[in-house]
Amino acid sequence: MRITLAQAMGTCFGVQDAIDLALEPRFRDRLTVVGQLVHNPQVTERLRANGVRIVERDQIDTITTDAVMITAHGAADTTKRDLEAKGFTVFDATCPLVIRLHKLARFLEREGYFPVVIGQSEHVEVRGVVGNLREAAVVYDLNDLEVLRGHPRIGVVSQTTNRLEQVQRLVQAIRALPWVSEVRFVDTICQPVKERQQAIQDLLTQDIDLGIVIGGRNSANTRKLLELIHDRGIEVHHIERSEDLDPAWFIGKQHVGITAGTSTPQDVIEAVNHAVRALAEQAA
Ligand code: SF4
Repeated sequence: MRITLAQAMGTCFGVQDAIDLALEPRFRDRLTVVGQLVHNPQVTERLRANGVRIVERDQIDTITTDAVMITAHGAADTTKRDLEAKGFTVFDATCPLVIRLHKLARFLEREGYFPVVIGQSEHVEVRGVVGNLREAAVVYDLNDLEVLRGHPRIGVVSQTTNRLEQVQRLVQAIRALPWVSEVRFVDTICQPVKERQQAIQDLLTQDIDLGIVIGGRNSANTRKLLELIHDRGIEVHHIERSEDLDPAWFIGKQHVGITAGTSTPQDVIEAVNHAVRALAEQAA
């Protein structure tokens, strides 16, 4: 049985920088992260083991540390100001590519376009972007476009973790709306995500018959990687750690492709790779 690792996978620079910042010794036992710093359970466990506290956004009143961190996914300026007004020292781990998304959405608004974010309305990154705009719509698929009625000039950005071809299809559909006269689309899908998606396409040209995708259950970009394999009719499984692997998946398989989302640490990927090789030998 062949086993191939995707050429690009695992932790991106934005996630790594955020983790490194939170783990700096100066923050030990005095830092609270608002929301999951990254969507990965092992990283969250490591942060907790290092004395970092984690609260959800609606639990801000329970924070007892003096330092507070905004996650790699970013937040609206009002969230940061609220935290400062409560007396916290705010450290901002927002990824530079999420900051770029915020800036471009505001630019489109300033230019007179009605801002539209293609993404999941409940995702923390999208809520942060929308929170910085006067008025905006979030759309995810063709069924959502009715909310754009009455807006002839539309400026479109995307959640950083979307699939480019899905976003392009949606932009085309927005252009075709009868009341729309102009659409300006800025591609804000981040480069590391595109590289990981391209690496899957490369894996798919190599006739894999089983895909293993490693990442947090609530990681949007991990789910997109899963979709890319699933859409080609290939058996694929989403796991968070090597213990989730089921020996039965490997029986009769010829070629396993392994990939991981942008918040999956290298040691988790290595453990899965090791375990897959052992299971492949057993199944042979
Ligand atoms: S996935 Fe992209 S936007 Fe998100 S933290 Fe990583 S590099 Fe930044």
